[in-house]
Amino acid sequence: MGLRKGRLVTLDQVPQWTGVRDREAQAPIAPRRASRRVNVGRVAIGGGAPVSVQSMTTTKTDDWAATLDQVEQLAAAGCEIVRVSVPDQKAAAACKKIKSGATVPLVADIHFDHRFALAAIDAGWDKLRLNPGNIRDAQKVREVVRAAKAQSMPIRIGVNMGSLAPDIVQTLGRTPAGMVESARRHIRILEELDFFDTVVSLKAHDVRSTVLAYRMLATECDYPLHLGITEAGTLRTGTVKSSVGLGILLAEGIGDTIRVSLAADPIEEVPVCWEILKSLGLRERGAEITACPSCGRVQVDILKLADMVEKVTAEYRAPVKVAVMGCAVNGPGEASMADVGIAGGKGMGLIYRDGVKVRSLPEAELLDGLREEIEKVIAERYPGYR
Ligand code: SF4
Repeated sequence: MGLRKGRLVTLDQVPQWTGVRDREAQAPIAPRRASRRVNVGRVAIGGGAPVSVQSMTTTKTDDWAATLDQVEQLAAAGCEIVRVSVPDQKAAAACKKIKSGATVPLVADIHFDHRFALAAIDAGWDKLRLNPGNIRDAQKVREVVRAAKAQSMPIRIGVNMGSLAPDIVQTLGRTPAGMVESARRHIRILEELDFFDTVVSLKAHDVRSTVLAYRMLATECDYPLHLGITEAGTLRTGTVKSSVGLGILLAEGIGDTIRVSLAADPIEEVPVCWEILKSLGLRERGAEITACPSCGRVQVDILKLADMVEKVTAEYRAPVKVAVMGCAVNGPGEASMADVGIAGGKGMGLIYRDGVKVRSLPEAELLDGLREEIEKVIAERYPGYR
């Protein structure tokens, strides 16, 4: 049924696919795709587990102290699974030391040489990222799969559009269909070895190909899917592309774990992942800030205040909702949907709790006043968090 131009409809006439009725009911945007569960150390992927956040170290892995330091920095930022490349013998030799100090599950990123996979398995790492078809010798693949299975260690097949097999490129091109065909080949190798603790990723540098590839594979299997746009770009462009691509898929219920790939400090990837998940209501972590963009009506420096509120609340784990609004146009309304809100006035501001005005303060005291109210809310409503 199409909507007729220029005519309002009632809520029960709104088609379900628009999501409007879902929002009304506070339901998830879409049901999550059913997937099998694998365990990466203490973090579950798939099978209804919360969508987890991943990133990857950029240090030289053989410098185990620097790598472990970065692993822990990522963990402190909220990264739940950290991938580390194991490209050579020196890196393989560092696996045990890195594992002994890490507080989050570790994924060994392996290409071509099965010995490095065996070293990571031997060191007790938690998952392999490895494309079995790239290890040409079937006996070596069997050896790795047997060892991974013995330790209940999952394997992620990581297909990238840039590294498809030549015959796939020739027949299907560097296309979503080509990526899916590549995934099928690697999956078949593992399944023939009776291995099913598999996670799959299908990454392209562009949103369209990535979305189409994941949609295709999502209907063919129940393996959990690791989402990412590969080589997405610098902090700004990579954040936008990843948010659009991962956002489309997650909103369709596709995706069990995510990584945002930025040409930047990897620590920057973690909050972007969290903001994507928080914005879709899939996870909660830390403050959720609503802030107005300011306009000609504003009479306090609301942009500076919003920036400072974000910095002050960055350390909070509690999912406290804070609204920072420039004036009375939308201020009280947004404040009513937040735990704590602020609406600017002439050189001053009003502070609200659950939409009820509790204080009026001069501009210079607004940040401190807001912080006091947020801390009170956290103590009352989210006592386990901080
Ligand atoms: S809340 Fe007020 S100041 Fe902020 S954008 Fe809206 S109208 Fe402008």
